[in-house]
Amino acid sequence: MRRPHISSKLRAKIAEVSRYRCGYCLMQQIATNWLLEVEHIIPTAAGGTDDEENLWLSCMACNRYKGTQVKARDPSTGRLVRLFNPRYQKWIRHFYWSCDGTEIIGLTACGRATVKALKLNNEFAKQARAIWREAGIHPPKD
Ligand SMILES: [Zn+2]
Repeated sequence: MRRPHISSKLRAKIAEVSRYRCGYCLMQQIATNWLLEVEHIIPTAAGGTDDEENLWLSCMACNRYKGTQVKARDPSTGRLVRLFNPRYQKWIRHFYWSCDGTEIIGLTACGRATVKALKLNNEFAKQARAIWREAGIHPPKD
């Protein structure tokens, strides 16, 4: 796989517009000891570019689980739909938090497909969210 050429200046800009959190699971930079990654919304393997409009911040788990996927099946309907695009779609229109804040629930076909494809509710994520909630830094207020 080709390594992206993203300048530190562009990385800083992406981090700022991404509000220092993963565009998919909303994990905040302050909640991890690992630098959030700049991911390609459309993977380079699927023709995506290194241009700013194709980049967003992602945690390592979401980026790995997403891999080269651009579409996934909505588990409710079986329909193949595009994955959530954190740059052009609003998270709150496609997802919401469970009452205890540990699970992400898909509201739309896109949301449901993304939850499943990116394993947004994997056991490690749910355990970490419970701790972040106790620390008062989760779920995000906005
Ligand atoms: Zn994430």
